[in-house]
Amino acid sequence: MKVYISADIEGVTGVNHWDETEKSEACHEEFAHQMTLEVNAACEGAINAGADEIWIKDAHDSGRNIDHNLLPKNTKLIRGWSGHFYSMVQELDETFDALIFVGYHSAGGTNTNPLSHTMNPQIDYIRLNGQILSEFLLHSYIASYLNVPVVFLSGDLGLCDEVNKVNENIVTVPVKKGVGDSTINIHPQLALELIKGGVEKSLNKNIQLCNIQLPEEFELEIRYKEHSNAFRSSLYPDVELMDPKTISFRNKDYMEIIRAISFLA
Ligand SMILES: [Zn+2]
Repeated sequence: MKVYISADIEGVTGVNHWDETEKSEACHEEFAHQMTLEVNAACEGAINAGADEIWIKDAHDSGRNIDHNLLPKNTKLIRGWSGHFYSMVQELDETFDALIFVGYHSAGGTNTNPLSHTMNPQIDYIRLNGQILSEFLLHSYIASYLNVPVVFLSGDLGLCDEVNKVNENIVTVPVKKGVGDSTINIHPQLALELIKGGVEKSLNKNIQLCNIQLPEEFELEIRYKEHSNAFRSSLYPDVELMDPKTISFRNKDYMEIIRAISFLA
């Protein structure tokens, strides 16, 4: 079994402030270490369920947070960014049996994580077909396109609630709850136990039930914090400026939506 793990940091237990997510800050190391341990727990769960090949995308900021030495030998770690529009699931393809998300966070436009955002913190929110779009759903639709089931997610409680609404068969492990600019976090070692057990359970279920249905057509809406960004994006082919800070783009092909997001977000 070949498994893909996409890992972010804003949904790792304990992480509360942007400083803790930035490699240039001294406090980053402690939280990058917990990110590594949570990814390792997911690897151990996957291996217990029969995974023999695991690809991991370090998908936060510089893409250089995870310590590969602390992960099992049957893992490949994707560091940095190729520029491909698959972004946080770069190199995902039809040969993978399952997709796992670790350390994921609530979307821009929601109040369930102090660090809520979608792709770029300079964006207020992204909507897809009228609904607030999270990085989870954005990348899950790529997996749907490739027929790879999304089996597990750990992160903040607000995002786990969203995942359960998208498909109740996806196993979720909430490791923290956001309240205003604060977070209520479970113990770091408990998070590891729950992630390991949750991933193992998720891969032992009928993972075909975890497929997420792709809509037949898409209307993308991006609301920027600065009107100048909306103006610039309005020059992309087929983009409409809806108001001084908001643009929209329609297409039936999700690959064109994700390509647009990579240039506009
Ligand atoms: Zn991040």
